[in-house]
Amino acid sequence: MKENEVREILKNSDLKITPQRLEILNYILSNNHASAQEIREHVSKKVSSVSFSTIYYTIDKLIDTGMIIPITLEPGVVRYDTNPDPHYHIICIKCGKITEVHIDPFEKFSLEELKKNGFEDILGFEIHFFGICKKCSKKV
Ligand SMILES: [Zn+2]
Ligand SMILES: [Zn+2]
Repeated sequence: MKENEVREILKNSDLKITPQRLEILNYILSNNHASAQEIREHVSKKVSSVSFSTIYYTIDKLIDTGMIIPITLEPGVVRYDTNPDPHYHIICIKCGKITEVHIDPFEKFSLEELKKNGFEDILGFEIHFFGICKKCSKKV
């Protein structure tokens, strides 16, 4: 993504443009499904003087504007998805590789059927697949 596009996203998210924030957003955009810890480690290596609160504040603002979506694929780890389209993930249990699967999630589920469980609206869903990737299955 071009530098001016990254700046535009920060502006639209109501964030002041700083070298720290540019680095945070660049990392999130070029590493889809990065975790907060990965973002923290990378950004503090690249730019000194970045506080955890700056990182979390920036992430929160990006979530508010819908630029990134928090997802939980493994217990206790929040990752940030830059793909706004509904999709599933397959995770390799050996190396942690995450692959996106694009199948229509509502094809088999009826929203009306789900709402019968006492809900006014259904906003989202979370289903993940686990497996062993080709690379890992070759290792003995
Ligand atoms: Zn994804
Ligand atoms: Zn693997």
